[in-house]
Amino acid sequence: MNFAPVDTYLAALGLPALPQSVRERFARYAELLICENEKYNLTAVTDPDEVAVRHFADSLTPAAYLPQDARRMIDVGCGAGFPGLPLKIYLDAVRGENHGLTMLDATGKKTEFLRMVCRELEISGGEPLQGRAEELGHDPARRESYDVVLSRAVSAMDKLDELCLPLCRVGGVFLALKSAAGREECERCAAGIAKLGGGTPQFDPYQLPGDQPESLVVRIPKISPTPKAYPRAFGAIKKRPL
Ligand code: SAH
Repeated sequence: MNFAPVDTYLAALGLPALPQSVRERFARYAELLICENEKYNLTAVTDPDEVAVRHFADSLTPAAYLPQDARRMIDVGCGAGFPGLPLKIYLDAVRGENHGLTMLDATGKKTEFLRMVCRELEISGGEPLQGRAEELGHDPARRESYDVVLSRAVSAMDKLDELCLPLCRVGGVFLALKSAAGREECERCAAGIAKLGGGTPQFDPYQLPGDQPESLVVRIPKISPTPKAYPRAFGAIKKRPL
């Protein structure tokens, strides 16, 4: 697996290169992802060098934008662990501190795979959790408790905001990795974001190495509590986005 493009990408973001311990863990993670893909239906990207860029480099992008004191994170709809798990592995190593990460996915097969990865890689502070974000958002132990809520490739912003913002503590940040369309998606649901306690979104375009299309980091600060009525059941979120 060629990590050179990942290091070049990190340098362009002003971030430290991959420590050797992180390379080893990423290599093993990729091996498990590719070997177990058929059984768990994890990803369409199976070429190791593409995995390095489209899964690992992409997942590290938030490291350039996260507050230093972010310790408790959740990845909503993490699938095979992206972006949360590579990000945690990297941050733990370069910041020398453990970051808590809940890896939430509705599909049991994905969280089963993540339990195996966490065991094999001896991850501490990683919690695979099968469940739905709109239900977890009403769990008093989870609601408004995370410093950082992450999400990639789960849904359009007019639905994603209601899945993610209720889990974010006031003063924390919701950070989504989106395609370039993310900006317009946010503009269309600006009133909904405000209703959920979100502040003004910030946009940072980025480009992965190789022939990848432009992507976007969307950051929404949580500035006030989410009203109790949200999140609604998924049917309502889908039918009548805020
Ligand atoms: N974030 C990963 C996976 C994206 S696929 C990546 O970028 O590679 C979207 C994932 O979101 C699926 O695994 C699906 O099971 C999960 N998902 C969709 N809606 C969800 C919800 N409401 N709560 C929890 N997980 C959800």
